[in-house]
Amino acid sequence: PEDDIGDKACGNVVSTDDLDRVGIRHPKDICRVLKGVKVFSPDRKTVFTINLKHFVLDRRAFGQRLLGDAKHAGVEFSDRTKALAPMVENGKVVGIKTDKGKMLSKLVVDASGFQAVIRNKLLGAERVHGGDTGVCYLEIRELEEQIDPNYFLVYLKGVGNGYCWVTPERKNRANIGIGVQGASNHPSPKTLFYKHVFPWFNLENSKLIKAKGGIVPTRGPINPLYSNGVMFVGDAGCQTNPVNAGGIGPSLAAGRIAGRVVAEVVEEGTDPGEYHRRYMDTHGKQQVALDAFRRFLLEVTDDDLNYTMRELLTEGEIERIVVGRAGAGLWKKV
Ligand SMILES: Cc1cc2nc3c(=O)[nH]c(=O)nc-3n(C[C@H](O)[C@H](O)[C@H](O)COP(=O)(O)OP(=O)(O)OC[C@H]3O[C@@H](n4cnc5c(N)ncnc54)[C@H](O)[C@@H]3O)c2cc1C
Repeated sequence: PEDDIGDKACGNVVSTDDLDRVGIRHPKDICRVLKGVKVFSPDRKTVFTINLKHFVLDRRAFGQRLLGDAKHAGVEFSDRTKALAPMVENGKVVGIKTDKGKMLSKLVVDASGFQAVIRNKLLGAERVHGGDTGVCYLEIRELEEQIDPNYFLVYLKGVGNGYCWVTPERKNRANIGIGVQGASNHPSPKTLFYKHVFPWFNLENSKLIKAKGGIVPTRGPINPLYSNGVMFVGDAGCQTNPVNAGGIGPSLAAGRIAGRVVAEVVEEGTDPGEYHRRYMDTHGKQQVALDAFRRFLLEVTDDDLNYTMRELLTEGEIERIVVGRAGAGLWKKV
């Protein structure tokens, strides 16, 4: 429903750089402004502090703002309309079937999130393996006091083979979650949350406000990002940072590139495959490199990662990796 647009299971953290890069004006309705991100080693003895301004979004308000901006720019919005499948003619997608009838279109953009309703029903389009996803469980809790009011806290490994996070929201409210690799027989993130995360942060005296679950792709982008009449954008195109599962920034960037290319296709007859090329040239290459780093994190033991963070990598190097600005020399060292 229209009123729920923006409301989803998410850590809700986005860097101001990510918004500036796509020219989105800063939201007024935010939960908190953060100084940056703290990344903890599995034994929590080494902490890397990345000082980079982030917003904790009021996700629903942000989604509603973007929807309002889109409508203002002339987008026609069909509320409560469920996309069901692509309509294919002679091997090319010419529209979609919805629960309210068919819609014909010169180009289709699948931006339906992790469900990727069009891509997953398209013969020959890439599928996402469970091992390339993060299965998450989070709770919004009212704490006695914030664990750290100024930073988004990320705890690498330590629990299962994934990560935990703490997002400080308004006042003493926090979004605390855990993500595990979604390989077959993966452990339940909720069970791990109650077994490990709950006692870690002494949550006994906190009050549960809401619990949510969600899945996020953690791999390189779908290849290709345009195929037979359809563009895949956002989680549907696996456009996230594979290491920290941050997808708001990359999705906004991809949406902007896709929008420009769609306009050029309609007005100038540009090849729609230009969307794939432009995304890969600007964001995709770093995402692929970060995916290699994610594989390293999955394979390395907790002890080795403790050692790597304590003795081998510097704070500056981790910052360059996390924000996607690592050069060839740093990747070689890793
Ligand atoms: C637990 C969790 C924590 C996260 N934390 C962060 C974070 O802190 N920072 C960050 O940057 N990223 C985070 N992410 C990732 C981020 O939420 C996503 O990458 C981002 O929301 C992707 O945006 P999207 O528009 O592609 O998909 P979505 O935000 O999922 O939007 C998809 C839209 O498509 C609609 N839709 C779905 N199916 C259909 C259908 N059949 N017909 C019509 N419409 C449909 C949905 O209703 C929804 O409105 C997190 C993800 C999870 C799961």
